[in-house]
Order: sequence, then C-alpha cells, then structure tokens
Amino acid sequence: MLERRIIRDLEGQVDAPHVYTRPADLAAYAFDAWGASGERHLPDAVVFPGSTAEVSGVVQVAAHYGVPVIPRGAGTGYAAGAAPVHGGVVVSLARMSRILGVERDALRLYAEAGAITKSIHSAAHRAGLYYPPDPGSSTTCTIGGNVACNAAGPHTLRYGVTADYVAGLTAVLADGTVVRVGEGGDRGRGELQALLIGSEGTLAVITEVLLRLLPHPESRVTLAATFDSMQAAADSVAAVTRAGIVPAALEFLDSGALAAVQAAGFGSLGGGAEALVIYEVEGSAATTAAEAEAIRQAVANAKASSVETGTSAAEADRLWSARKAVSAAVAKVMIGKVNEDVVVPRDRIAELVGFTLEVGDRHQLRVVNFGHLGDGNLHATFLIDPRIAGDRQRGDAAAGALFERVLAMGGSLSGEHGVGQAKVAYVERQLGSGGVALMRRIKDALDPGGTLNPGKKIPGVPAAEAAAPAALAAAH
Ligand SMILES: Cc1cc2nc3c(=O)[nH]c(=O)nc-3n(C[C@H](O)[C@H](O)[C@H](O)COP(=O)(O)OP(=O)(O)OC[C@H]3O[C@@H](n4cnc5c(N)ncnc54)[C@H](O)[C@@H]3O)c2cc1C
Repeated sequence: MLERRIIRDLEGQVDAPHVYTRPADLAAYAFDAWGASGERHLPDAVVFPGSTAEVSGVVQVAAHYGVPVIPRGAGTGYAAGAAPVHGGVVVSLARMSRILGVERDALRLYAEAGAITKSIHSAAHRAGLYYPPDPGSSTTCTIGGNVACNAAGPHTLRYGVTADYVAGLTAVLADGTVVRVGEGGDRGRGELQALLIGSEGTLAVITEVLLRLLPHPESRVTLAATFDSMQAAADSVAAVTRAGIVPAALEFLDSGALAAVQAAGFGSLGGGAEALVIYEVEGSAATTAAEAEAIRQAVANAKASSVETGTSAAEADRLWSARKAVSAAVAKVMIGKVNEDVVVPRDRIAELVGFTLEVGDRHQLRVVNFGHLGDGNLHATFLIDPRIAGDRQRGDAAAGALFERVLAMGGSLSGEHGVGQAKVAYVERQLGSGGVALMRRIKDALDPGGTLNPGKKIPGVPAAEAAAPAALAAAH
C-alpha cells in the first residue's frame, strides 16, 4: 500500500477523482488478457492522466518515491505486460483517447495513445484512407498498446507491423522528460522511435502517435478453403507463394479451433475439417480478380475439400467469422488458457501444430491452434481450468516444451504479443547472454531507477530493485 503522501502527490498531478486506491477499484487492473491463465496482482494505485503533461507529472512523482509505473492501454495484452506483477502505480491512458487529426493529403493521422485502434481504422476510412495493422483485438486495444507491443495482425503479411506505420511519437521518459521523436520531432529516420516501439512500457510512456496511412485499396477478395489435413493446408500456402502472390492475409484454424467455434455457437463454417485457411487479396479490381483465380487453382491442386469466395463486405465477414470468433469461443468453452504466439518458418507450421497436439496429449490438455499462417505465427493455446490444482502448472509445462521446440526450429517466442512477464524467463534462451546484457544497458541508460514496468520484457530487472523499502526510505 502506498503512503498517504505519495497518493496526495499523485492526486496533485491529475485531481483526486482520477486516482484509484480502493481495493474494489483496483481489482480490474490486477490482470490483463493473460489473466485467463489465473494470475492476479493488485496495483497500489491506478491513475488516469488527461494529457502528456499530467503523465509527466505522475511519472515524476513515481520516480521521486521509487514506485513502479505500469503503463496500461486497454489491458488486452497476452503477456502480463500491463499486469502489476509487483504492485506499483498503473498509469492508464484511458482518458487520452482522442483522434487529434487526419491529414488526408499527407496520408497521416495524429492521435492520443489511448485511442482505440478501431477508431483509427474508422477515422482513416472516413477520409478514404487505410491503416493496415489490425490486431484481432482492434475493437478494444489502444494504439499506444499497439506501439508498445509492435502489434501485428492478419494483414501483416502484405503490409507489415505497427512499426512500419509509426511516423512519430510523443513519450514520457522515466524521469518525466517529454520527448518528441520521428516526424515533427527529431526528424531523423526513426532511430529514436525504433528504440521505443516494442519496448512494452519499460523505456517510456507513449502519449501521442503520428501514423502513416495508405490510400484505401480499390478492391478486396476473400477466399476460405477447408482441408482434410494440416499438411494439405500448408501445401496450399506454398503453392500460392510459388504462384508469386503475396496475399494481404493468410490465416488458419485447426480442427480444435473449429470445434471450439462451433461448440461456442459462433457458426459451423469449416466444421469437420482438419483445417480452414482464409486467403485475402487487395488492390485494383483487375489484380485481385486475377490473384483470386490463381489462389483458387492453387487450393484445388492442394486437394482442398471445399473453397468459397467472397467479394462483398458481407460475404467476407461470413468467411472471416470463425477466425474472428475463435478467441471468444475459446473463452466460452473453457475457463482458462495458456496461449502463446510463437513463430517458425512458415513451411514448418504443420509440423509445429502436430507437436502441440503431442504436447497436449502428454499433459492431458485440450489444444486449439490458429493464427497467421502466412507469417509462420502460431497461436498455440492449451486450455486449462485454473481452479483445478495442477492445471495451470501443466499448461506452463506445455508452453515450456513448445518454446524449446520453437527455439530448436530457429523460431521466435513471440510474433506479436510481446514478452511481458509471461515469457521473460525464456528471453536469454533466445537472445543469449550478450543480447540480454545489451537490453539491460539500454534499460539502465534510459531508466536508471528501474521504475518503468519492472519485471517485464528484460530479464534480471526485478521490481524489487525499484521498489525496495530502502529506496522509498531514501526518497523521504
Ligand atoms: C482477442 C484478442 C486478440 C488479439 N489479437 C492480436 C493480434 O492479432 N495481433 C497482436 O499483435 N496482438 C493481439 N492481441 C494482443 C493485444 O491486443 C495487443 O498486444 C495490443 O497491442 C495490446 O494493446 P492494449 O492497449 O490492450 O495494451 P495493454 O495490454 O494495456 O498493454 C500491453 C503492453 O504495452 C504497454 N503499454 C500499453 N500502453 C502503453 C503506452 N501508452 N505507453 C507505453 N507502454 C504501454 C503495457 O505496459 C504492456 O506492457 C490480441 C488480444 C486479444 C485479447
């Protein structure tokens, strides 16, 4: 619990109603979407600044008392990045959710970091423009959280990740200094903003973003095909690549995921198949028609059991319905999950899906697989009931086995969800001690007091270093 004078100083920065300290109010901030695995950690306070200046004030108070700061967007993160694992002050960007402007001719959009990603899509669309990064959580997650995690989505295959669309950032450093980097700031080529993108709240609190937009594509065609084996689904992807096509999106669900969608009452598309693959192409009408035809051919050669094509928005929505519903379906059919987003070369996805099923059998856990097939990004999900003794541990053991296999395949622990607290124990296995030492040197240089999101992303920077009672005493 924070001392009264720390709370008073926080209230001095944002006005009393924007500081929560009652346990009942704090409860909703004790976890993020990773909380489905059962973890809960109450923060000491939650503050809701309304401007960059207020964020700076709050961060300065926290730095003065050596109290951890946990930046928070919408809490949809899957890595416990926004969860206050070791207490501290959650800085919620919820009040900073405005779209500040769309520059139609400059193809740019300016927004506060707490703006919901869907509102970015809508504002761009109203101006005839396109913001491609589209995480599955777009209706709830924030653009600041997307930048902090370098979020991706189904359309990453063709268009890239959030980092590819950040033109500039306003951010608050650990000592409260406000920096503007990128266009409108240092006007460099993005070296400084590259340091902050993907830093998961460990180097700065992002308060405003300047985004690059694209002209809206003229046409879009969506295809959905079912297969009687994961290997046949993977073969269709290889055939599409050999045809020289880079689809805008290339997504899949395995039989476990399709069964969960059906059991949850979200439709029966792909029911009974071993895999459903969605292919989407965008561009001029002539190009998308030709590419869709080439994909139909490739899918037929790979012996698809069925293929459907959608050219209208309503048809596309129907073909995407199972993929869009899968996370909600998993939550409906089972109370908890340990879900990962590992990456391997995409021609090895079928092999990795097979491995997850073996691991599931070994640990007696139901497994659901889906994800971004075109990027080799697998959302392997082990279903658990955190109320049952040992279930959570079995889920963690299954995830550990998955990580080892992925690293042995030359893959990566996270394609988009980030490291947070959930995967921090595995970072050194992936980056080696030299890589971790480099991360720590960057962290020490930007946040010498270790107050920004301690215990996340960077191994060996525990919260205790930042929040030890001795540090508090020294500040008094
Ligand atoms: C149903 C579902 C589908 C999803 N699909 C995808 C997907 O397709 N692609 C994908 O990439 N992710 C996906 N995610 C994960 C998640 O939505 C993303 O990681 C998203 O970017 C998190 O945004 P948020 O605002 O919820 O951030 P939070 O969860 O609040 O925070 C995430 C991390 O960012 C930090 N952070 C948040 N805001 C700031 C800020 N302003 N400044 C500094 N640090 C900050 C936090 O400290 C934390 O470390 C999905 C999640 C769900 C629940």
